Amino acid sequence: MKTLNCDICEAVLKAPISGRTYFHLAHRDICESCRDKLDYLIKPVLRTKSPFSYDWYTKLFLENIEKSIQKGKVEVKIVI
Ligand SMILES: [Zn+2]
Repeated sequence: MKTLNCDICEAVLKAPISGRTYFHLAHRDICESCRDKLDYLIKPVLRTKSPFSYDWYTKLFLENIEKSIQKGKVEVKIVI
C-alpha cells in the first residue's frame, strides 16, 4: 500500500483522510500538525489585513507551504 508522507515534516500519515488527518493543498500533502502551525502563524496577520481577501490568504498559505517544504519545517515569512 502506498504510504503518504507530509511534504513538510515527512511524517508518515497514518490512515490518511483528506481534510481531516491531512490536507491536500496545491498538490502537496500536509499533515494536520503542520497545517495547524501554518494556520497559527498566519492568522495574526489576517487581522491586520483589511479588507480581508480570501485569495490573498490562500496565496499566502500556499507560498508559505512551499517555503516550509524547502526548509523541511514550518516556517512562515509574511510580507504585506
Ligand atoms: Zn507535517
